[in-house]
Amino acid sequence: MEINNLFNKRNIKKTKVRTELLELFTVSDSSFSVPDILKKINATKDKVTVYRALELFENKGLIHKVPDSDNKLRYALCSLECVSTVHTHSHAHLVCTECSDTFCMDDIKLPEFSFSTNIFVDHYELILNGKCENCVS
Ligand SMILES: [Zn+2]
Ligand SMILES: [Zn+2]
Ligand SMILES: [Zn+2]
Repeated sequence: MEINNLFNKRNIKKTKVRTELLELFTVSDSSFSVPDILKKINATKDKVTVYRALELFENKGLIHKVPDSDNKLRYALCSLECVSTVHTHSHAHLVCTECSDTFCMDDIKLPEFSFSTNIFVDHYELILNGKCENCVS
């Protein structure tokens, strides 16, 4: 999907920083922490600008927070079903203990639970800890 389309579809004004940031996510199948991003993009070296852009992307359904081995903020690209304010995906995340990257596991079906007490579960997270494809081989 083209960057411009992604911005237009979600009513995001295009800026240099936002374009470079979204490009980073679209060309990779893994995830990024803020320090990773600051190292990789050239449009800005300002942390606050990056945080703001990430927050905007998250609110517009472009990216989502993923678990991280050191509990840092870490984001991955959303599927196209995600729209503003509603993140529809429920997938497992693999946290690699070797390279510390986090991967969205879209092809794993999450188990369905039944409860003996009357509770309502909105969503839950399944985190797999282990080694990613790159680190296993
Ligand atoms: Zn999402
Ligand atoms: Zn790895
Ligand atoms: Zn994910």
